[in-house]
This record gives sequence, C-alpha cells and structure tokens, in this order.
Amino acid sequence: MGIATVNPATGETLQTFDALTDGAIARAIDAAQHMFESYRHTPLAQRAQWLYAAAEILEQEKAEFGKLMTLEMGKPIGPSVAEVEKSAWVCRFYAENAEKFLAPVPIETDASRSYVMYQPLGIVLAVMPWNFPFWQVFRFAAPALMAGNVGLLKHASNVPQSALAIQDILERGGFPKGAFQTLLIGADKVAQIVADDRIKAATLTGSEPAGASLASTAGKSLKKTVLELGGSDPFVVMASADLDLAVSTAVTARMINNGQSCIAAKRFIVQEAIADAFLNALVEKYKALKIGNPLLPETQIGPLATPAILHEVHHQVEACIEAGGRVLIGGDPDDVPTKADAKLSQGNFYPPTIIVDVPPDAPIAQEEIFGPVATVFRVPDLEAAIRLANSTPFGLGASAWTQIPEEGDRLIAELEAGSVFLNGMVKSDPRLPFGGIKRSGYGRELGREGILEFVNVKTVWVK
Ligand code: NDP
Repeated sequence: MGIATVNPATGETLQTFDALTDGAIARAIDAAQHMFESYRHTPLAQRAQWLYAAAEILEQEKAEFGKLMTLEMGKPIGPSVAEVEKSAWVCRFYAENAEKFLAPVPIETDASRSYVMYQPLGIVLAVMPWNFPFWQVFRFAAPALMAGNVGLLKHASNVPQSALAIQDILERGGFPKGAFQTLLIGADKVAQIVADDRIKAATLTGSEPAGASLASTAGKSLKKTVLELGGSDPFVVMASADLDLAVSTAVTARMINNGQSCIAAKRFIVQEAIADAFLNALVEKYKALKIGNPLLPETQIGPLATPAILHEVHHQVEACIEAGGRVLIGGDPDDVPTKADAKLSQGNFYPPTIIVDVPPDAPIAQEEIFGPVATVFRVPDLEAAIRLANSTPFGLGASAWTQIPEEGDRLIAELEAGSVFLNGMVKSDPRLPFGGIKRSGYGRELGREGILEFVNVKTVWVK
C-alpha cells in the first residue's frame, strides 16, 4: 500500500493519496528556501504568538485530531486525545522558553566582548514515524520554528491525514506558507531531498535501517542529523521496590500505544526474591486488560498499526519460544476477543503477552519487540541486573525500582541509556532532553538541548 489511511482495527482503506511528483517536491523546496530568507528575520515574539495560536487550535479541536490518529494507526482514543494535548504543551513550552534558550551567552576572554549566539540553519527535513503521529512532529516543529528554521515533513506513509492536518494547524496558527510543509512522499524520495544543497539538516525517528540510510546520505553531503531510533528499555525491579506500584507501572509502561513506543519498557529484569510475586501480579493485570475497538473510551489495547508490524511481533514471539521461552499469557494472534467481532475480525490485534525463560544471550533477546509483549528475566542481585540491562545494542531509556538509596545511585550511574527514571516509568516531557546512546541514535530532542541541535552556534570575538 502506498500513501494511505487504512484503519488498523478493521483493515478498511479509508483514503489514498498520490505521492508528490519530483516537480512538486522541487517547488516545495524552492518555497521553503524562499520563506527562510524572510522567516529567519521574524521576531521571536512573533513566532511565539503563532505557536501559541497553534496550541490553541490543537486544544480546541483535540477530539477531532484524536479520532484521526486512532483511525490512522489504532491507538486508543483516550491516549490519542492526550497526545494532542501534549502537542499543545510542547508548542507552549517553546513559545515561552525559546528566547531564554537562544539568548546570547557571554564568555570572558582576552576580547573586549566575546559571546556565543545561536542562529537558524535553514531548511530542516523531518522524517517521522506513525506511532505518535502528532507528538513526534510537534516536538520537532516547535523548537525548529522558534529557532528560525523552516521545516519539511516526510511523515510515515500510513498517517497522511495527520501529516496534512499538522501543516494546516501551523498555518492556521499564523505561520506563513512555506515555513512548514508536509510532503506526501515515500521513503524512496528522502535521499534526493537530503542531498539538495538547500537542505541543511535532517532528523529521523524510526527504525535502525531507516536511520542508517538517512545518516549515510546526509554524511555524504556533510549534513547534521539527529536520530531517535529503537529501544529495548529495561525495567529493573529490585527486591526492595514498592511491588504494587512497580507492577501497575510495568503494565502501563509496556502497553503504552499498544506496545509500540520506542521508550516502552520491554525487558523486565526482576530480582529473584520477588520474581514470583511480580509475575503473578503481572499476569493478573494482563488478564484484566480490555482489548478492542480503539474508538471506544473503555478500550485499553487497540490493534497494531499495520499487518507488517503484527506479523513481525508474532514472528519474534515464535523466536522467543524457539529459544526456550515460555508463554505465561497471550502469544496467539488468533486468540483475541476481536476475532469474534465481524467488524474487527480483520484488524491487526495481538494479545497482551508475557514470556519468561528466554536465555539472555539468545539473538531474540537482543531485539526490540514493537508490540504488547513483555519478556521477564530473573536475576540474583544488582550486579546481574545492571549487566543484563546493559546487554543489548540499544540505550534509549531505563526504568529502575528500588527503595535502597545506594542501589538507586548505582543504577543511575551504571545503566547505559539516554535517560534513567528511578521509581517511575520512562516518559518524554518538553522540559527534559530526550534521546539515546548506542544503536538507539544520537542527538537530543526537547528541553534546551533540543532547540540547540539545529542552530549555528556562532562564536563572536570583538577586540
Ligand atoms: P520505519 O523506520 O521504516 O519508518 C519510520 C519513518 O522512516 C517513516 O516515515 C518511513 O517512511 C521512513 N523511512 C523508512 N525507510 C527509510 C529510508 N530508507 N530512508 C529514509 N526514510 C525512511 O519504521 P516502520 O514503520 O517500518 O517500523 C519498523 C520498526 O521500526 C518498528 O518495529 C520499530 O522497531 C521501529 N520504529 C521505531 C520508532 C521509534 O519511535 N523509535 C517508530 C517507528 C518504528 P515510510 O512510512 O514511507 O516507509
């Protein structure tokens, strides 16, 4: 399927779109470059006013935008609406703080005056995924536009209506045409756009192959990139943890977005002394999850975004079993309540699944599982927990649970990840920088660090 909205709950194709021609892509880049020449001189207060207006539109129309996301990629309606609200938050956050983040920083040297100033780069290309169709884009667009850059969005091919809605929201907020444009194109057009001299930088959130492909093209033309790729975040539970809170948070952290989040907790590493209690409570909570039509407010688990994701998740579950893993609950895509519902029987539903006994050194234990599947590992002590947590090629987030301060200090210091959340789940927040290390990517979004990724850090020295 090319560029189209296909309802993942029913399999029904709702709308299809033609990809832009090469001529239309060239005109969009021309328009972006032309706009940059004037947009870069707009006062920060003006940009902030437009961004506040966009936030207002998001909030006023959150029900409609939420429904659109649910229809395009299947997340339950409650979290969809919450995502629109969070997108408004990131707009307001940068509208309010960009001036402070971008203020020149004086530095004392042998000059009479020396300082660092931050200037926009030009056109930034954003290649974005379907899992948080609004949030992923606004967390790029808000800082980029406040910094004086202009944006081109290549969104995932299965969320075209969300992509078009975002350009419309920003334009209705007041941003001039050309400041932020959605390009309805397939992944095959990204390389030629990145290679265009007028594109100054690119950011991608998605899979490792997509990130590597973009970065190598950008590298050939020496362009800055930020990559936010996959993760296989550990969720470490030590014997001293508040078990009830750890278990209920574990469910939320694994099930967020039907299990399709880069920072979802994916590997549960539990100290032996409490492992049985943890697992029993986890299974009970999984049994209670409501899987079904994501448009209904009571639904907790909707379908996976595409048949390909469903196929891949099940393939990975089979690989876990082959490696010695034991399924405690779930594991059979034919055994979901939606199969009996005539409307939902063709949906991409996968049952919440828990697997134990996967050997940590099995190849499958190194992979990211992008669906509602938890693997649980037992460890004797803190050393083993940290070693196992760090044993994958990823390093995005890590959640750790303990009430012993010394254990907490070691976990904070030794977990290899872009963020560590102690006694809480990993989450993104406009105020906190977000990103990974190792094969989870590089660079940061959000916070002050996020807005400084796509600027010229100009050193000024005056005799
Ligand atoms: P992709 O990485 O393929 O898609 C993400 C974005 O990258 C889309 O806009 C896609 O466009 C684009 N893209 C794909 N290939 C290239 C390429 N070679 N060059 C430039 N852009 C490209 O993710 P999938 O949807 O296929 O999901 C596969 C896996 O990726 C998931 O199972 C998960 O592991 C990971 N993933 C991680 C995400 C995260 O939040 N870190 C988000 C989404 C996926 P198009 O849609 O047109 O192919």
